[in-house]
Amino acid sequence: MRVSKLFTKTLKNAPADEVAKNAQLLIRAGFVYKEMAGAYAYLPLGIRVLEKIKQIVREEMNAIDSNELIMTTLQRKEIWEKTGRWDNSVVDIWFKTHLQDNTEIALAWSHEEPIVEMMKQYVSSYKDLPISVYQFQNKMRNELRAKSGIMRGREFIMKDMYSFHTTKEDLDAYYERAIKAYKRVYDRLGVGDETYVTFASGGAFTKFSHEFQTICDAGEDMIYLHRGKNIAVNEEVIDDAVKELGIVKDEFEKVKTAESGNIFNFGTQKTDELGLYYTDKDGKKQSLWIGSYGVGITRMMGVIAEKMSDDKGLVWPVNIAPYMVYLVSIGEKGSAEADKLYEELTGMGIEVLYDDRDERPGAKFADAELLGIPYRVTVSDRLVESGEFELVQRVDSAQETLTHQALVARLKQL
Ligand code: ATP
Ligand code: MG
Repeated sequence: MRVSKLFTKTLKNAPADEVAKNAQLLIRAGFVYKEMAGAYAYLPLGIRVLEKIKQIVREEMNAIDSNELIMTTLQRKEIWEKTGRWDNSVVDIWFKTHLQDNTEIALAWSHEEPIVEMMKQYVSSYKDLPISVYQFQNKMRNELRAKSGIMRGREFIMKDMYSFHTTKEDLDAYYERAIKAYKRVYDRLGVGDETYVTFASGGAFTKFSHEFQTICDAGEDMIYLHRGKNIAVNEEVIDDAVKELGIVKDEFEKVKTAESGNIFNFGTQKTDELGLYYTDKDGKKQSLWIGSYGVGITRMMGVIAEKMSDDKGLVWPVNIAPYMVYLVSIGEKGSAEADKLYEELTGMGIEVLYDDRDERPGAKFADAELLGIPYRVTVSDRLVESGEFELVQRVDSAQETLTHQALVARLKQL
């Protein structure tokens, strides 16, 4: 992509009403556009990051035999009434609306009930199970506060997965596989070392559910953490954890975190409420065991922007960077040489954002840093004369001067 063809522009300042660092940086760098508090549009650079996050999650969910689908944003009232969750006093973040014939409907804040309803059409026998499905879907939540930038949206993208089983043991085994898959996701996103499987409230037949909490100053949660023992507990349930797990509160440190994902078992409650059953080997009608597994896709992008940034801008990890190389041309000869290099590198499958604008070198360098592209390659008139290229790494500013051959070899390895 040539910067001259990119419609977004970097901004000196973020909108005055934007208080969250993640959104300030992402808006200034042209990754997102603020429509209103809690609602952000994703621009060309932002989409590339989101798609890479989604692809990592997709690969790991596929690896545990889950099937991708896309459910609807419009939802029926009857389904949610069956479980008692249509009521605003039970769920306080509904966006409800009406069809022209006055039928009351809503915008999806979750798909738990609708997926159970949908499965009534596909599951009837023990032979149909187990099943796991997932989607990347926009969730609409009328959140009271939306001050954490893209970390808490009123409209946001979630990966939600649901699994259906004949027995508790089968659900438990899948739940463990899902935990492992989630760990691989957070590792690949570059936050594995700082993301903890955390005991949290909820869980239909156990005392706890599990959240994936990532250490983040801008997060809204607080966990009790024992790094040595690798135990984490959400402060909401710390008293229960002291009772149930016998942990000693004083041995734990309190850490600010963001909930980047969570997993949950529903037991058989939802299937009973919604009337989803299967027949077992003896022809007897049985309830299903259900698990629910979420990852905040847009929240993850916000968490990573918060954690991986400095005073100059964003610092994307290689796995989810929108482009691998920010190519800067300086001067006339530099531009001619940079044109050639751009064609060569893109031809090799390397993702290059080529700053071909007629701008001061300082402005180009500043944008390279604000955008957080992992590697900057500079081709200037002066360098062309000595047949050299400058390579600068965003994360630590390490700088090298390389021949054409050495540069291409280096970039090929990334
Ligand atoms: P929270 O406690 O942060 O309000 P939640 O417990 O309501 O989240 P779920 O409904 O289980 O979360 O959603 C699954 C995941 O979606 C969460 O772990 C989080 O990463 C993400 N998520 C939840 N609400 C939002 C939101 N308003 N904006 C962005 N991401 C969100
Ligand atoms: Mg929560």
